[in-house]
Amino acid sequence: MFVTIRGLATVAKNATPKLTDVLIVGGGPAGLTLAAAIKNSPILSGLSTTLVDAGDLGKVTSFHDSPPEHFTNRVVSITPKSLHFIAERAGAGDFLLRDRIQPYDGLYVTDGVTNTILDLEKPSMLEMIEILNIQSSILKKLSQYDELLDDFKIVDKTKVTKIESSDPKDPTSWPLVTLDNGDIYKTRLLVGADGFQSPVRKFANIESRGWFYGTFGVVATMKLQYDPFKLRGWQRFLPDGPIAHLPLPGENATLVWTTTERISKLLLDMDPKAFASLINAAFVLDNVDLQYYFDELEAGKITTEELVEDVKFRMDQEFSKLTNDTMIDELYPPQVIDVKGDTRARFPLKMTHADSYCSYRVALLGDAAHTTHPLAGQGLNMGQGDTEALVDALEKATQRGQDIGSLLSLEPFWAERYATNHILLNMADKLYKLYHTDAAPVVALRSLGLNITNNFPPAKNWIIKTLTAGTEF
Ligand SMILES: Cc1cc2nc3c(=O)[nH]c(=O)nc-3n(C[C@H](O)[C@H](O)[C@H](O)COP(=O)(O)OP(=O)(O)OC[C@H]3O[C@@H](n4cnc5c(N)ncnc54)[C@H](O)[C@@H]3O)c2cc1C
Repeated sequence: MFVTIRGLATVAKNATPKLTDVLIVGGGPAGLTLAAAIKNSPILSGLSTTLVDAGDLGKVTSFHDSPPEHFTNRVVSITPKSLHFIAERAGAGDFLLRDRIQPYDGLYVTDGVTNTILDLEKPSMLEMIEILNIQSSILKKLSQYDELLDDFKIVDKTKVTKIESSDPKDPTSWPLVTLDNGDIYKTRLLVGADGFQSPVRKFANIESRGWFYGTFGVVATMKLQYDPFKLRGWQRFLPDGPIAHLPLPGENATLVWTTTERISKLLLDMDPKAFASLINAAFVLDNVDLQYYFDELEAGKITTEELVEDVKFRMDQEFSKLTNDTMIDELYPPQVIDVKGDTRARFPLKMTHADSYCSYRVALLGDAAHTTHPLAGQGLNMGQGDTEALVDALEKATQRGQDIGSLLSLEPFWAERYATNHILLNMADKLYKLYHTDAAPVVALRSLGLNITNNFPPAKNWIIKTLTAGTEF
C-alpha cells in the first residue's frame, strides 16, 4: 500500500493513545459543570481531565464576551441549589452574568378547563437563567486552567466517532475513544454527558426506556407591555399541553408552550403579532376559542389584524367580569406585545430513563441518563444533582485510594440519584397525562385535588420543596 508522509503522520498520531484520568464527552451544562467541579476540587484537581464536544464552544464563550441585547431562547428555571453548585463547587460564581438572571417568587398554576388554581409562593423560589449564561460562565472559569500545569484540555468542534474497550476480553479495561480528528484517548473514567442520543451510553450497553409524547415545546423570548406586578411563573394547563410564561429581567419573559405537532408548526410560522396575541389569549380565553383561531389561521380565513382585534375584544370581555383592574395583574400574566422573531423554536418532548448510570469505567450524567417533560422544570436540575453526586463519589473514592473507574467508586453516585430522578420523572409524566385530557370525570377529580392542595399548606410546602430541592426523597 502506498502511504504518504502525511498519511504516516496520521497513523503515528493514531497509534499512541493519549492517556487521561477522566474523559468527559459533552460540553452541555452537565459536562462543563463536572469538568469545572473536578478542577475546582482540592481532592480531585490532580486528575488529568479532557472534555470533548462536537459543537463550537468558542461561540458559547463569545456570548459572555459580548452578550446579545435580547435574551436567547434556551432559558431554564434553575433551583437555588443547582445555581449554588455552579457558583461555588464549580467555581463559576464570579463569572455568572447576574443581570441576566431573574429570581422569582413562586408559580401560579391554573387548570385551563376549570380555572382551578394552585398558588405556590416563596421568595426567590427559583431563578430563570439562559443556558448560554451557565455554559459561558463555566467556560470562563475553565479558561483559568493551564493545559500543562493543571492537566486540563477542551477539544471542541470534534466528534467522538468510536468507543471500544482497550481489551475486549476485559470489561474493566480502560475505554479507547476515537475522535474524528484522528486522536485516540485512553481513559480511566469515561463520562457520558453527551445528551439524549449518548454514544457513551450505547458503548456501555445501558438500556434507556421511555417514550416520545408526540408533542413539542415551543419556546420564544417575549417583550411585555410593562414590568411584572408580581415576579412569578405562570403556567396554564390546556388540553393540548401546558403553556408557561416565566420572568426574565425587566420587561422580558420566556415562553414554553407545549402543544401538538400541527399547532407547534403553526405557532412558528405565523406573524409575530398574531403569535404574541395568541400567547395572551392562551392564559385568558377558553380552549375552544384558541382552537377556533388556529383553524381560521390555518385556513387563511383571518388576518393578523383581525385576529389581534378579536382576541383583544374577547379578553376585554373576560376582564370586564372582574371587580377591579388590579385583579387582572393578580390573575393573569403581563401581556405580551412582541416576540423576537428569531427566538421562536420547537423541541420534541420525551421521557427517558437509563436503567443504570454507571458500568465499569463509565458514568452517565444529565440528558444522557434521563430526559423529562419540561412542565416541572427539572431536566437540567436533575443533571446538576447527578454531577454533584458524582463529584462527591469521586472525592470519597480518591480519599480512600480507590480506582475512580471501579464500580465500587461509581455505584454510590447512581444509588444516590436513581430513585430521586425516577420520582421526579414520573411526577412530570403523570401530571402531563392527568392534564392532557378534557374528559369530564378526570377534570372533576383533578380540580378537586388541586383545590384541596391549594388550601392545604403542608401539601403546598411539599410541592415547593420538591420543585426547589429536587432531591432527598
Ligand atoms: C423546551 C424545554 C424547556 C426546558 N426547561 C427546563 C427548565 O426550566 N429547567 C430545567 O432544569 N431543565 C429544562 N429543560 C431541560 C434542559 O434543557 C436539559 O436537561 C439540559 O439542557 C441538558 O443538558 P446536558 O448537558 O445533559 O445535555 P446537552 O445540553 O444535550 O449536551 C450534550 C452535549 O454532548 C455533545 N455530544 C453529543 N454527542 C457527541 C459526540 N458524539 N461527540 C462529541 N460531543 C457530543 C453535544 O454537542 C452537546 O453539547 C428544558 C428542555 C426543553 C426542551
